[in-house]
Amino acid sequence: MSTTPSETIENASLEDRLYTVKYQDPGESHLDVTVPGICASKCKPGEAECVTVCPADVWRQSEDGTPVIAYENCLECGSCRYACSQNNVEWSYPERGAGVTYKKG
Ligand code: SF4
Ligand code: SF4
Repeated sequence: MSTTPSETIENASLEDRLYTVKYQDPGESHLDVTVPGICASKCKPGEAECVTVCPADVWRQSEDGTPVIAYENCLECGSCRYACSQNNVEWSYPERGAGVTYKKG
């Protein structure tokens, strides 16, 4: 009996899929906020779009409201810069040769 392509795809968890991603640390963050005070004044805990949209838990809000950014986990999807309603995300690709590498496309 033959199988269709959809039958051969494993239903791996998000954690398992993220485990297949390689990352070369560029040594400094390619992500930042333009004005940290905007984060503290505009985004209440639990309501920051950068935190809720990121699939890799890169963004966390500190107690004073400013984000802590675990840039080394970034998948370079670009979602955070569009999700921030304050247009307060500084975003660039990591330097050439660094950053994320996808093993399975
Ligand atoms: S959504 Fe934008 S303004 Fe709010 S915490 Fe994130 S970066 Fe700051
Ligand atoms: S680019 Fe994507 S993975 Fe990277 S921090 Fe932004 S939302 Fe998260």
